[in-house]
Amino acid sequence: MSQKIEELARANVRALTPYQSARRLGGNGDVWLNANEFPLPVPFELSQQTLNRYPECQPKRVIERYAAYAGLTPEQVLVSRGADEGIELLMRAFCEPGKDAILFCPPTYGMYSVSAETIGIEYRTVPALDGWQLNLPAIADQLDGVKVVYMCSPNNPTGNLINQDDIRKLLEMTAGKALLVADEAYIEFCPEATLAGWLQEYPHLVILRTLSKAFALAGLRCGFTLANKPVIDLLMKVIAPYPLATPVADVAGQALSDEGIALMRQHVAELNANRAWLFEQLPQLNVVQQVFPSETNYILVRFSDSPKVFKALWDQGIILRDQNKNPGLAGCLRISIGTRNECERLIAALQALSLEQA
Ligand code: PMP
Repeated sequence: MSQKIEELARANVRALTPYQSARRLGGNGDVWLNANEFPLPVPFELSQQTLNRYPECQPKRVIERYAAYAGLTPEQVLVSRGADEGIELLMRAFCEPGKDAILFCPPTYGMYSVSAETIGIEYRTVPALDGWQLNLPAIADQLDGVKVVYMCSPNNPTGNLINQDDIRKLLEMTAGKALLVADEAYIEFCPEATLAGWLQEYPHLVILRTLSKAFALAGLRCGFTLANKPVIDLLMKVIAPYPLATPVADVAGQALSDEGIALMRQHVAELNANRAWLFEQLPQLNVVQQVFPSETNYILVRFSDSPKVFKALWDQGIILRDQNKNPGLAGCLRISIGTRNECERLIAALQALSLEQA
């Protein structure tokens, strides 16, 4: 019976390996450093009591506040169920299944390929160069038939920014042919690197943002697509009629108030200080081979025996994200920056392993 049902499904869905989100991977931890979340909850109270009514498709207060925060106009902002929905809406609006392609540069965020596979769109990959920068000549060779290029900066899971000169070249290369989507999910940790100011120059530039990281609201599921009006108008054609639940819009509006933004900036400063502390501590451990620079709320680390480190920490309730299967990341684990106490527990556990190995 279940065999028959399986056969009814689309071939690409049968073949699909779903995104292995941190929550799906499970674990029994009390130090969660595997999903790049903010480590502590921020308190909110719901003020909207009108759940008998459908919500606004694009809640005005959320759009206006995000536009002000990003230095854009409201017509350049679309809000959706996380940045993940933005990734998919772009494919649904711009790529013809079976005909057009998307392109991205691994190692990078896993949802670009999962969304493409789900929808039935070819994806092309151009591996990043040393230092995880763009291989522009190889991208140029692969651009035929590509409608959307996804570029994550700062990149997940490596933590680096993409060189802005290269981004300009990529924008010139894709002009009139494809959208360039800059995934800025982690931009609050290095706000000076945003490309938001470039939108007026490039009609084919799109920027993805989220409240899941620096704003400490991963459970809210709220993200933004920033682009010029013609792009936003097309996305509005394919978005669900009511993408944001009323309580989501309510909390998002509060998070984007002046006080909400000030709190977010304070949290970012705390995490950046913890990151600096980890950058002092990690290289001193003999289980650690390489610590990669990071502009984000996570650090990519190469270990001499990463499966052993991963398991030993897992058994102590410290949950990291394994990156071994990601191209070029053998031996690497990704560590989200937690509270100072969580960082200290991490370092103590790694110190104990380092002593064993010495
Ligand atoms: N882009 C990147 C680079 C991410 O790391 C994530 C979160 N894992 C997302 C997009 C999706 O964010 P959201 O929670 O807003 O769907």
